[in-house]
Amino acid sequence: MRYEALKSDMNLCTGTRTGYGLACRGTLYKCAKCGHTGCKQNRGRTCSNQAFSVEDRCLECGAVGQMEVLQ
Ligand SMILES: [Zn+2]
Ligand SMILES: [Zn+2]
Repeated sequence: MRYEALKSDMNLCTGTRTGYGLACRGTLYKCAKCGHTGCKQNRGRTCSNQAFSVEDRCLECGAVGQMEVLQ
């Protein structure tokens, strides 16, 4: 329980997984180029707050490999 409380204070994705209706709670990343933040999903666009696709491409500006872990 303590761990969960701690985890919620961190920067976790607050989006919803499409098709599941579940909270994403994935790691958040930031685009070094445009500053867009969100999570990365391995299959298409599956989170309402997704910012990066599987090839590390920013969905906002299209930059590849510019993602940094948001801390
Ligand atoms: Zn997400
Ligand atoms: Zn970007």
